Amino acid sequence: MTDIDTGSRYSIGEADVTGRYPVAVDGRQAGHIYRWHRRWHAAAPGCKETQHEDRDLAAGQLVKLIDEGAVLAEGAPAQTPTPAAGYVPQLAPRLQPTPGNIRHAAKALARLNELGWEPLEGYPGADNRWLMRCRLCEWVGTRWWSHLRGRNGDNRPRPSYRHDGCIPMVEQVAPEKLAKLVVTAQSCQCKVAHPTTADTAAALLKSVARARRAKDTPSLTADLSRLLGPCPAATVRAAAIEAALTAAKA
Ligand SMILES: [Zn+2]
Ligand SMILES: [Zn+2]
Repeated sequence: MTDIDTGSRYSIGEADVTGRYPVAVDGRQAGHIYRWHRRWHAAAPGCKETQHEDRDLAAGQLVKLIDEGAVLAEGAPAQTPTPAAGYVPQLAPRLQPTPGNIRHAAKALARLNELGWEPLEGYPGADNRWLMRCRLCEWVGTRWWSHLRGRNGDNRPRPSYRHDGCIPMVEQVAPEKLAKLVVTAQSCQCKVAHPTTADTAAALLKSVARARRAKDTPSLTADLSRLLGPCPAATVRAAAIEAALTAAKA
């Protein structure tokens, strides 16, 4: 246990749209903390990012860094985690393009399309903030996929209202409202074809695995764009990916 009382020296501000909380130490901006997969990360300019059990431990780490004189002046470039080599924008750079992550991302992206949400960054996992645009009203902010996907497979977003300040609830749930905005198709007519059968999905997943092993980023990016890029048949595609992975396990 540490006997240094850091608690009275920091203050945690409001989260920005990406879910980062600015932290001031002794009244001076020190860095920020954010939650990622049940861990709290502490980040400050010039310092290595660290992970902690809760937000207070993460904020306390910034106090320690300030005391060590390790934090660079404001405006200095922050040391950002290096994205693991050029993955597609549909998958957060921290998520490896494993079959499981691709399956989850494909499903989430398909459902987001059906619900009239446009993702503005890569799929971040179920329990992280995800920046998106509401297609009913153009609002931009973060939602959690774990809330949007519903519980026990019921597919019903919670809460049922979309966000504060959206169009009236009766209009939100009117099916014709979304039908006007959302294009869903049974087959892909895109110029670069997206996989809509288990066989084509399986071939692409194999190609992803090969490209990952060979560190062939251009191939990986191309393959992942076909697996996760925008497509009116995204729902059919997600089912095809699921079927391909289920068949591979059998
Ligand atoms: Zn809205
Ligand atoms: Zn397509």
